[in-house]
Amino acid sequence: MDALRDKRQTAGRRNIATELSALLPARLVGHIADDLGLSGNLADWSDARVTDLVTRLRAWHLRPSGTEGYRTAEVTVGGINTDDLSSKTMAAKSVPGLYFIGEAVDVTGWLGGYNFQWAWSSGWAAAQAITAG
Ligand SMILES: Cc1cc2nc3c(=O)[nH]c(=O)nc-3n(C[C@H](O)[C@H](O)[C@H](O)COP(=O)(O)OP(=O)(O)OC[C@H]3O[C@@H](n4cnc5c(N)ncnc54)[C@H](O)[C@@H]3O)c2cc1C
Repeated sequence: MDALRDKRQTAGRRNIATELSALLPARLVGHIADDLGLSGNLADWSDARVTDLVTRLRAWHLRPSGTEGYRTAEVTVGGINTDDLSSKTMAAKSVPGLYFIGEAVDVTGWLGGYNFQWAWSSGWAAAQAITAG
């Protein structure tokens, strides 16, 4: 809210949608411009209108319509149930000598390294068990 009010002082002749695009993704602003009545210059926007705009933006809910599927998937849950594995060695409980690690197992995390960490750590645990046995 403050950012828009400040801009009104320094760039009052700039279009409200253009200025909002510096704060939010431009394509999003284009998409919601009509809904929010984004027209005119910043100088035309009173404090009350700016407050109303920001209140409506904060109350705006994003409802994903679906996913892009496997084409762009970065992580999956592989399908092997963790209940069927030893959590210490990753060995299958029902088949001696069979191990599962990494993304083959039903474990997933936020992107940002957690899946790599899981893949490496589960691999390390299995390798320790295999070399010890
Ligand atoms: C685009 C993308 C971005 C990602 N970014 C991140 C991220 O930023 N952070 C994060 O934590 N995770 C990220 N991930 C997820 C992460 O890469 C995986 O969770 C992780 O690599 C899984 O490791 P893995 O060893 O289980 O499987 P994989 O890395 O898939 O390794 C399996 C290996 O087996 C080989 N293989 C398959 N079939 C056979 C076969 N029949 N015989 C021999 N070899 C075979 C494959 O070629 C592959 O080398 C990303 C994934 C993708 C696709």
